[in-house]
Amino acid sequence: MIELQNVSRIFTVGDQQVTALRDINLRLDAGEYISIMGPSGSGKSTMLNMLGLLDRPTSGIYLLDGGNVTDLDDEQQARVRREKIGFVFQSFHLVPRLTAAQNVELPLVLAGIPAEERKVRVQVLMQNYGLSDRADHKPDQLSGGQRQRVAIARATVMKPTVLLADEPTGNLDRTTGWEVLKLLEGLMEQGITLVVVTHDAEIGARAQRQIHMLDGRIVSDEQRAK
Ligand code: ADP
Ligand code: MG
Repeated sequence: MIELQNVSRIFTVGDQQVTALRDINLRLDAGEYISIMGPSGSGKSTMLNMLGLLDRPTSGIYLLDGGNVTDLDDEQQARVRREKIGFVFQSFHLVPRLTAAQNVELPLVLAGIPAEERKVRVQVLMQNYGLSDRADHKPDQLSGGQRQRVAIARATVMKPTVLLADEPTGNLDRTTGWEVLKLLEGLMEQGITLVVVTHDAEIGARAQRQIHMLDGRIVSDEQRAK
């Protein structure tokens, strides 16, 4: 369902060139649970941004559900992103002036969903994620774990086919981190494809498929023994 073919990403900083991804070939099937591990600077975030249509390859192509999305313009890519992809970040990326419920509602507003339906969908999600009594709180009135649950609710409110999480537990204590991970793993019951970037080997080991990166390359790609 997702395929990167010969994807490279080169950043130009001043007169320096940094190769963040080197000729990546990767295929992810629907419903897979994948972790991406590797040291800082190995290209994990660049890879996830590529998969999430937040960045474009310098060369190579990206096929999503059989269609080449590399050639789409920014607006077309944004539409695909809204329809198919959820993204969760280490630092939550919530809109500070909006309440928890309004943050979750935002993708529905952008997609033009009517207010009545928005309200119902947001309420159901807030309840499922144990956030009902925090609906009217602003992000700075929430704990880290609650903020990340709001972020996950926002990332899933459009029912994406793939959820990409970049160090989702990186700003959380261990117990809270595990709770957030369990929540993400629960999404797979709905058939979502889950990709978790982490430098935590214990977290990465939970995925069915474990990819290790080093210096912009995939150095191993293994299925966990059942
Ligand atoms: P990781 O997430 O594994 O720590 P990144 O994907 O963030 O690694 O970075 C990979 C390499 O690309 C690093 O050398 C980093 O400095 C470089 N890089 C990432 N994003 C940018 C950017 N926007 N501009 C310049 N260099 C970047
Ligand atoms: Mg990173």
